[in-house]
Amino acid sequence: MADYYHELGWRELGDGEQPNHLLHMARFLIDYGLYEVTFAEQWPRLPPAASIEAVENLKEIIIEDDSENNCPICLKKFCINEKAKEMPCQHLFHEKCIITWLYKTNSCPFCRYELPTDDKVYETFKIEKKRAAKRRENIETLHNSMFS
Ligand SMILES: [Zn+2]
Ligand SMILES: [Zn+2]
Repeated sequence: MADYYHELGWRELGDGEQPNHLLHMARFLIDYGLYEVTFAEQWPRLPPAASIEAVENLKEIIIEDDSENNCPICLKKFCINEKAKEMPCQHLFHEKCIITWLYKTNSCPFCRYELPTDDKVYETFKIEKKRAAKRRENIETLHNSMFS
């Protein structure tokens, strides 16, 4: 039994450690395919706001040449010497535009690149979904190596 849990990436709790109910619930729902049923419809419709830290850490750029680029949010062109914010996906936005946007949801309006959020529930599900996908991949690889 201990091996079974170990294999699932679970471990025994240390002294004074509380079980992480949220993590267990997330794993349970995803592993049994209930995640899609439970949450795909109603949650999350939009990912939550970006974390304050992530927004504060966005790179600031001064527009140096009269480029053809528009801000994807307000669709206005950037002017020379105007301040812009660069997302990690390298898309540029007016500071005001992107901060208002990230206050509502964490993803780049242009390519959906996601910034970290302060929302524990959302972050847990995101990590667990990745883990579940990786495990499916491993099982497929194993299956293929056995039967090809
Ligand atoms: Zn703008
Ligand atoms: Zn982007």
